[in-house]
Amino acid sequence: MNKDRKLIIAGNWKMNKTVAESVALVKSLKIELANIREVDMVVCPPFTALSEVSKEVLESGIRLGAQNMSEQNYGAFTGEIAAGMLKEFSVRYVILGHSERRQYQKEGDELISKKALAAHAASLRPIVCVGETLAEREGGLMEKVLTTQVHGSLAGLTPEQMDETIIAYEPVWAIGTGRTATTSQAQEAHAFIRKLVTGIFGEAVAKRVRIQYGGSVKAGNARELMSQPDVDGALVGGASLDARSFSDIIKNSI
Ligand code: PEP
Repeated sequence: MNKDRKLIIAGNWKMNKTVAESVALVKSLKIELANIREVDMVVCPPFTALSEVSKEVLESGIRLGAQNMSEQNYGAFTGEIAAGMLKEFSVRYVILGHSERRQYQKEGDELISKKALAAHAASLRPIVCVGETLAEREGGLMEKVLTTQVHGSLAGLTPEQMDETIIAYEPVWAIGTGRTATTSQAQEAHAFIRKLVTGIFGEAVAKRVRIQYGGSVKAGNARELMSQPDVDGALVGGASLDARSFSDIIKNSI
């Protein structure tokens, strides 16, 4: 598949996998994906497995991501993890504003933008998630929601920082539901997001920024989704928990 932007496919393991299971999964991925150079490949294990998985991915094409981080650098914030702590394990990416955190931890755009700025300050690349709920889509509010989330979550970033930021479009109704957006629904939302990025950061940045699709991506639908002009990769939940299915998504996307 020939695109100006290199595809980036990330696996979000969420609150799954012990350390031993994480190591076993990444060992299998290293074998399955040994010869892939065309795609940026990222795994995001739980915090507890970052240390061991970081040793496994050394000298492989797989990069390490975290699922969240604090907007603070250190101090009395019980249960939080700072960007600098992630850097100790060679983490390169961090998922921010996932819809599960927006929903269950009540994270809002202002906090997410602070986290994005803190990530950049530590040279981590944020994967900033946006996406509408089913009620919002059915109420004709998709564009309004995406506009608010894109403007709010990326507030304060410089164009240079935006260049190093990935956006994940994840319609909430497609996450973990087995219900995938159609290719035209995905393309339409991605093109709209790119237009928003153009308005904020200019055309050159918008042309370079990578926008992942997330929501029940599987080996069977990856190729069609990735073939859309504004879809530059995937953020994969359930199907990233199995080496074969995650590898097949990557291989089918090339
Ligand atoms: C996600 O949680 O980011 C996700 C897209 O999950 P799933 O692939 O399971 O729908």
